[in-house]
Amino acid sequence: MIKDNLEEVEENIRKACEKAGRDPKEVTLVAVSKTKPVSDVEEAYACGMRDFGENWVQELTEKIPVLPEDIRWHMIGHLQRNKVKYIIDKVAMIHSVDSFRLAEEIQKQAEKKDVQMDILLEVNIAQEESKFGFKAEEVEAAAREISALDRVHIKGLMTSAPFVEDGEENRKYFKAMRELAVDISQKKINNVDMSVLSMGMTADYITAVEEGATMVRVGTAIFGKRNYNK
Ligand SMILES: *Cc1c(COP(=O)(O)O)cnc(C)c1O
Repeated sequence: MIKDNLEEVEENIRKACEKAGRDPKEVTLVAVSKTKPVSDVEEAYACGMRDFGENWVQELTEKIPVLPEDIRWHMIGHLQRNKVKYIIDKVAMIHSVDSFRLAEEIQKQAEKKDVQMDILLEVNIAQEESKFGFKAEEVEAAAREISALDRVHIKGLMTSAPFVEDGEENRKYFKAMRELAVDISQKKINNVDMSVLSMGMTADYITAVEEGATMVRVGTAIFGKRNYNK
């Protein structure tokens, strides 16, 4: 079932790229495996998936040691500063950097472990009360401030658009994200790269790809519905 789902998601990404005149190689599918068992990750891995996303530090630190070493783990959930130390040398990218203080802690822990860390700045593009992330107008200043941290490398922007039934409703937000990334990249800030746009989930990844997403984070469409009560 996971195999069929993956094929369908990949086919949808290909079609969205075709429609938008993009090369599908520009888009990385991150399989969001939160709450799902190790066996599901193994099944997706066997289909060729290498990028997996998780929301919680504890779940990450349980799964990482029992799964293949060539998996690129993406931390996509809200990250508390006191937990950075548990994942700093284990994940490929932290998508959810939403404050300078968090970036500073990433710098501190990266120094301790002698590693470099790629991050994305999380943007609360629809200004939802319930969501983390910088406001669009704060992102450039945050990027400038964080750019001074020599082990922390901004690779782009991330957003979780509002929960909608029809992904089309989020098109305006994906457009705004792309424009923001272009604006900031034109500032040519040292140690700030805007090539990654992490946006689009099960409900809206097709629209996100049409609007320029380079990473889509898809859980439900690959692994099925999540059960949070286990
Ligand atoms: C859970 C989650 C996803 C995946 O959501 P689906 O709707 O299951 O595809 C993507 N991004 C973030 C930040 C998430 O928390």
